[in-house]
Amino acid sequence: MKNTKRSITLKIIAGYTLAIVLAVIAFWVIYRQFSNYSEITKIKNDNNEKLFLVGEAITGLYEAESLTRNIIQTSDTEKFKNYKTKIDSIIGTIDKVSTMSLDTLQSRKIDSIKILIDNKNQNFEKLIAIYEQSKEKGLQENVMDQLKKNENFGNYTNYDKRFRKYSPQKKEAIIAWLEYTRKDNEERLTNQTIDSIARSIYQALSGAEEKERRYQRQIKARENKLLKNDQIITRQLRDLMAAIEDNERREYVAKLERSNNILDKTAHFIIIITAISLIIAITFLFLITKDVSKSQKYRNELEAEKTYKESLLKTRESLINTVTHDLRSPLNTVIGYSDLLEKTGLNNKQKHYLGHLKKSSDYILHLVNDLLDLSKLEAGRMVIEKLPFSPIKLIENTITSIIPVNDTKNLEIFINVDKKLNKQYLGDPFRIKQVLTNLLNNAYKFTDQGSISIDGQIKENGLAEKELVISVKDTGIGITQEQQKYIFEEFSQGDDDTEKKYGGFGLGLAITKKIIKLLNGKIKLESEADKGSNFTFCIPIELAKSQITEEDNESVEIQHFTNKKVLIVDDDLSQLDLTSEVVSLIGLSYDIAENGVDALELLNKKTYDLILTDIQMPKMDGFGLLKEIQNNSYYKDLPIIALSGRTAVSESEYEDAGFSGSLRKPYAPQALIGLIAGVLKIKTVDVNLDYENNTSEQEKDSNYSLNDLMLFAQGDSESLYAILETFCNSTTEHIKELKAAIKHQDFEQIKRLAHKMLPMFKQIKAKEIIPILDTLEHQDDYELEPKEILSLTEKGINKIENLIDKLKVKN
Ligand code: ADP
Repeated sequence: MKNTKRSITLKIIAGYTLAIVLAVIAFWVIYRQFSNYSEITKIKNDNNEKLFLVGEAITGLYEAESLTRNIIQTSDTEKFKNYKTKIDSIIGTIDKVSTMSLDTLQSRKIDSIKILIDNKNQNFEKLIAIYEQSKEKGLQENVMDQLKKNENFGNYTNYDKRFRKYSPQKKEAIIAWLEYTRKDNEERLTNQTIDSIARSIYQALSGAEEKERRYQRQIKARENKLLKNDQIITRQLRDLMAAIEDNERREYVAKLERSNNILDKTAHFIIIITAISLIIAITFLFLITKDVSKSQKYRNELEAEKTYKESLLKTRESLINTVTHDLRSPLNTVIGYSDLLEKTGLNNKQKHYLGHLKKSSDYILHLVNDLLDLSKLEAGRMVIEKLPFSPIKLIENTITSIIPVNDTKNLEIFINVDKKLNKQYLGDPFRIKQVLTNLLNNAYKFTDQGSISIDGQIKENGLAEKELVISVKDTGIGITQEQQKYIFEEFSQGDDDTEKKYGGFGLGLAITKKIIKLLNGKIKLESEADKGSNFTFCIPIELAKSQITEEDNESVEIQHFTNKKVLIVDDDLSQLDLTSEVVSLIGLSYDIAENGVDALELLNKKTYDLILTDIQMPKMDGFGLLKEIQNNSYYKDLPIIALSGRTAVSESEYEDAGFSGSLRKPYAPQALIGLIAGVLKIKTVDVNLDYENNTSEQEKDSNYSLNDLMLFAQGDSESLYAILETFCNSTTEHIKELKAAIKHQDFEQIKRLAHKMLPMFKQIKAKEIIPILDTLEHQDDYELEPKEILSLTEKGINKIENLIDKLKVKN
């Protein structure tokens, strides 16, 4: 399962990594293609610009050519400036073209164009110079114009005929000249002279004409050359243009191909990448789905296993519960009768057998109790209390109960506890004691010589949270590193010989660890084989709000009367339990009887130092028992203390009747201890009773309180639960009897039962139930109708049943 989970994670990571790598590659390749593409587009634009410039140059040349023609046609030299400007702009454009990337052929063509333009310029300048010259050579025409302007020059009617052979121009010139001279030499001019003058003018004019024709030819030649040159330049430019255009077209096509190529490649690449991504996605999806379905399968299997395990655990728990509960009662009988048997004067062999019998039954009882605890812990049914307690007293009590007074091993016991442990703290004293008991038991069991040290302290972590830290250190056999790995597991012991040598079932530490976990604590073990072990546990606790000082502490000084025996007589088993607890607390041994008749039977068999008896009992009540005893010479001086729930009888009435003392139920343990101490007149020692007056935070608001019972149990969870168990069982019996009484409308029985039950409910301060039972007990005083009694009884039964359910959960 874990592997599948890891494999899914790995696959997801691998999938994402591949996707990222693919994305990076795709981005890089597309970016490269895109920059190539934009490079090509840029080059394309350059080429377009080149083409445009060449086109501009050609247009310019056409314009220059038409300007040239115009100048040639009009011989207007003024326009030459325009021509020059045009040519300069053309050269500028061509220069721009040449700065652009060109191949050598194109560059050479550009150079030759420039030379041609230069030539053209030179030609044109020469042509202009000729024009300027021709303007000077046309002087005779100017002369002619002057002549024409002369007033006397118009009258030449006779000349037309005479000079009709001449060209009109010449004729005009001759006539003008003749007219001019005629005015000066009118008298002297003869026809002959006129003719000769005319001839010479004619010759002069013909010569001028010839010269002019020559010039005209020259100009023509220049013009032709210029035009030709222009044509060449234009052709060359056109060639160049065509070449560039061709080149550009080819380049454009190549670039187009390249860009198409790039686009194609990119498209292919994108398709490939998409295909790869798809394949990867599908592959990973497949793999992950496979893993997920595998893990789902495992999960289903695990869930099925879990359900199976839970049902097994439930079965095991109910089996353990049934077995242990069923074992406990007969076992208690075996132990009880073994105790009785012991006192019947046995021979050594019988004592030996009985020893084995007791040892085995103790062993089974211990196992049964451990198993019960374990099953409760595993089923989460162990309820944690929050009660005030003094850790120091708890430690001392536990040590006292575990280390035997006559310790044959002679172990040194060191107790080193912080003063703070004297204060009252809130926690679960029963469970802490159980943990400490297990650890101390082990320390004592596995240490043959040396010492056991118990350290206790309160650790504060600065956040008003406190931890009770207790360590139990011994110098015993120690635990190897290997053993340390499993000794906290159920049914595990150090080695195979441990059980044989030291006994035990390997449950103590497992229970200890589970309880500590339940208390949100931790346990640590440091140990070395043959050197000893050190178990340290810490448990969070709170400082109790109300602190009891030593003066407040109503401790009662009594002695542990190990050699005295008490007979407790009560028909209410719960009360029997409570009284037995108090009696055993001060070290007295005791027997129990459920009524006066049984008590007398025991009295005939055994000797007692004191009788504690209830008053109202079946068969024979307390007064009857007192009378029987008083009338019996053998034990007539036996002191008897009356323990009764009756409110109608006063203390002096009991004393007058012959009781040594009396106590009204519910009573406080210290009151009974004081009374017993007084009656038996014995020396005293300290007994811890500081549970008094402390209210369990947990139960402050509830309808009952176990505080008083805790006083009886003296912080011992086992005792408390035993008392509770008896109480629950006897109350269930009482309820059955109450129901039967309702059925038979037996009001007297209801009264009796209410009386019997009341003390115990007062003891647990059952607020809602006490007034009901009290009313039922004193139904005559309240003048209740039968119907009212019956319905009140039913109400009481309901409330009691609810309370019993709650207590059973606790137990
Ligand atoms: P049990 O004592 O009934 O065998 P536990 O669960 O209390 O079971 O202890 C388990 C085992 O751990 C013991 O059998 C013993 O081997 C080892 N162990 C516990 N406490 C000590 C100790 N103080 N010194 C040496 N060994 C110990």
